[in-house]
Amino acid sequence: MASSSVSSFYSPRLAALEPYVPGEQPRIANLVKLNTNENPYPPSPHAVDAVQQAAASGLERYPDPESLALREAVAQRHGLGVDEVFAGNGSDEVLAHAFFAFFRQSEPLLCPDVTYSFYRVYAQRYEIDCELQSVDDALRIDVDALAARASRGCGGIVLANPNAPTGIGLPLGEIVKLLQACPHRVVLVDEAYVDFGGASALPLIEQYPNLLVVQTLSKSRALAGLRVGFACGQAHLIEAMTRGKNTFNSYPLGRPAVAGAVAALQDEAWFDQTCKAVIDTREGLTLELEDLGFEVLPSQANFVFARHPQRDAAELALALRERAVLVRHFRAPRIAQYLRISIGTRAQCSALIDALADILGPA
Ligand code: PMP
Repeated sequence: MASSSVSSFYSPRLAALEPYVPGEQPRIANLVKLNTNENPYPPSPHAVDAVQQAAASGLERYPDPESLALREAVAQRHGLGVDEVFAGNGSDEVLAHAFFAFFRQSEPLLCPDVTYSFYRVYAQRYEIDCELQSVDDALRIDVDALAARASRGCGGIVLANPNAPTGIGLPLGEIVKLLQACPHRVVLVDEAYVDFGGASALPLIEQYPNLLVVQTLSKSRALAGLRVGFACGQAHLIEAMTRGKNTFNSYPLGRPAVAGAVAALQDEAWFDQTCKAVIDTREGLTLELEDLGFEVLPSQANFVFARHPQRDAAELALALRERAVLVRHFRAPRIAQYLRISIGTRAQCSALIDALADILGPA
């Protein structure tokens, strides 16, 4: 059927939305997949065992609607109360609940112009007026300008720390400036990548009733396929999100997801070793990319954002694809000449460097 007739079924509200486009998940053998910031290592074996055991019995019953075991594990690890933790089906879903619960205000939500592009999609979905704040020429968030704008009145602030897709992290003092500039609205800090060298705002929760920190098990716990994310904040914020969640889906996390996530959160040895491997590989890859003439932004994440002054980024991404190496290229203004390269295993990163050396030719 022609798509125009299919779209006649759309509600006007749906027709007006522009969905987020996730990175590809192609089924190509031997692909070096460095395009969606997954962890290149398999998850903790304890997490895999826990998922298998949970799947082996009890699937005929609904899971705990409150995902209490998972919230307890998060609370325990981060020194919070269980009523200060909200759990959801991936941090994307957690973010959606936060946007719904907090940001449709009379003043606009403030958001950097270069950041995770899903924020704008949620703003559109929930009819939130979103005012983009320019990052500077080095693609850094201008915190003083953002705080000054916030103190004139805003509907809240959302940002990723470390930022995506730049990988640049902000120190906690900068987050405090934003919290103080926006005391009556929520400041959402998305810490999807924080475990790869960023500074987490979780210790600030006790002091700031307007702080919501969102994290995921998709990256540093290597559980992208399980879909588990969480938000931490004072109990009044978590209560608000739970209220919203219960107008949408009472059981967002299945039993295997909760069991796997709890086991993953308890395996500190796996976590420390894997984060260290990713960070070490990132530092090595950065130097190798610089040797090939790339400019690489300083990253505290499990990816780097790099551009080559003489070569078009879209063409490079295509040439890499022809050599079975996938990286992410965004056509968005300001970042169209950059490639976002997820940190793979050392072998995957060597394959990327070999492919780039081949594409670029002799210096
Ligand atoms: N926040 C940021 C900044 C991200 O890059 C991603 C991954 N695309 C997410 C949140 C969502 O991650 P997940 O839904 O897998 O938890």
